[in-house]
Amino acid sequence: MNIWDRVRKGTQTVSEKSSGLLEMAQTRAAITKLETEKIRKFTELGELTYRVYNREHVADAEMEKLCNEIQDLDRELEAHRARLEGATPVCPGCSRPVKPEARYCPECGQSLRPVRP
Ligand SMILES: [Zn+2]
Repeated sequence: MNIWDRVRKGTQTVSEKSSGLLEMAQTRAAITKLETEKIRKFTELGELTYRVYNREHVADAEMEKLCNEIQDLDRELEAHRARLEGATPVCPGCSRPVKPEARYCPECGQSLRPVRP
């Protein structure tokens, strides 16, 4: 292997590592966005419920549509959370990926609490 192959391989490894971190950050951002959306839908549902209380006409279809949308959001949230759980854990000290079974970070020596006690 010549020097350029080694450089290329090194670069690849680094970008693979950071893409893992980026993916986790993106997944977390997606979760936050979905949770905000869910709160918005719950607020809408609350308004509809209040209209029902005030004996205004509210179409069942309107309620059902909102509930279905919330269920869809829940499914998406669940999928994102499962992805985060399956993702490589990251050292809280240096943010480098560490093995799930590692007790100390091999890079900075930070003690790592067990992910699942
Ligand atoms: Zn570390």
